[in-house]
Amino acid sequence: MELLPRLDPDEVRRLDRAHVFHSWSAQDLIDPPAIVSARGSRFTDHTGREYLDFASQLVNLNLGHQHPELVEAIAEAASRMTTMAPGFAAETRSQAAAMTADKAPGDLDSVFFTNGGADANEHAIRMARIHTGRHKVLAAYRSYHGGTAAAMALTGEPRRWGSEPSFTGVVHYWGPYAYRSSFHSDGEEQECERALAHLRQTVEVEGPGQVAAIVLETIVGTNGVLVPPDGYLAGVRELCDEYGIVMIADEVMAGFGRAGEWFAVDHWDVTPDLITFAKGVNSGYVPLGGVIVSGAIRETFGQRSYPGGLTYQGHPLACASAVASMRIFERDDIIGRARSLGEDVIGPGLREIAQRHPSVGDVRGLGVMWAVELVRDRETREPLVPFNATGSDAAPMGEVAAACKKSGLWPMVSGNRVHVVPPLTTSPDEVREGLAILDEALSVADAHT
Ligand code: PLP
Repeated sequence: MELLPRLDPDEVRRLDRAHVFHSWSAQDLIDPPAIVSARGSRFTDHTGREYLDFASQLVNLNLGHQHPELVEAIAEAASRMTTMAPGFAAETRSQAAAMTADKAPGDLDSVFFTNGGADANEHAIRMARIHTGRHKVLAAYRSYHGGTAAAMALTGEPRRWGSEPSFTGVVHYWGPYAYRSSFHSDGEEQECERALAHLRQTVEVEGPGQVAAIVLETIVGTNGVLVPPDGYLAGVRELCDEYGIVMIADEVMAGFGRAGEWFAVDHWDVTPDLITFAKGVNSGYVPLGGVIVSGAIRETFGQRSYPGGLTYQGHPLACASAVASMRIFERDDIIGRARSLGEDVIGPGLREIAQRHPSVGDVRGLGVMWAVELVRDRETREPLVPFNATGSDAAPMGEVAAACKKSGLWPMVSGNRVHVVPPLTTSPDEVREGLAILDEALSVADAHT
């Protein structure tokens, strides 16, 4: 008997519509395409159209589609040991933990594995609460931390609304965003000072003795690719040290090379107490995430039991793909390639594009994590669509996305931004090809200025 019968793409789509319940969607209003083949930075859908993947699926595909060695490593691991409960010491789990700890800064030396990013954040908060004996957690309004209960409560953006009321004790604050400052500041330096003063005030008003953790995305991802001004992370670190607060850096999107370093915090030489990761650790070939834990927090659970676990955490196949992925990163200098792709190709390319399009208000990014922010008016910075736009309000961004897709580019559109986040292995020529398509598609946005 054939255990994995092949279906034609129409049947795949028919069964999907009949039986798959999709995330973040009205079930009757969607028509998901099927991917029939994929390789490197490209995939082909059921209509036969080929796309350059400028979204890396959900910004997780750091090594691209169907990397042959990664696929082979998973098959090899499956033939050795397909599953093993978390209570055992497993070969690939031990290796993945040791390699991850080796890449992490400071004394972040142990890894609590999870199945993805949201549960990594759930466990990071639990560790911080028990470690400090406090209950409040501060998280940024402009953030996404995942789709499970506590991770949704941490999330500041409107996707949180649908799951409220929920987990208690989360207080939101405004992080730095010089282009749309919440503090009316003039430039990055002032934005940094004022954002830190606001955070300090929030801690003081909430009661420093009650605040267990400050959670932040080192570089805010889905909510805008907001690169913190120099000095901001160091300031957060100082504030946390002053009040005994646990600093949690969510590097689910920015980690593992996406920002041009193993971890984005490396750009500023800041060591958080906990780093959460997922996505790029193994390009999402098998679900994997985790929390990298400092010596002091590990110590808290040295003689007392940590109250939490997951049946599939540190799954041998997931860990095998992480080990293989990190080895490919090292051998092929993927971090160096990511940095130069950003500095030499994406950054300059987007800045040049911006000059031709009145709809481009801002260009920002680091490594292979970039965004162009679209506006109706460059002077007033009125966004092309409101931040919580739905339906016809969101139409102009839908038109830009459609124009990209028509020419063979799969874009990531979020709010009033087009994010440029291809696999780190995309060649400079492929990136230029994608940027040329984006350049043309942006004339659709110009028509709304
Ligand atoms: N944190 C950040 C910064 C993310 O971008 C995401 C997902 O997009 C998550 C957490 C949640 O990760 P997952 O979807 O793997 O649970």
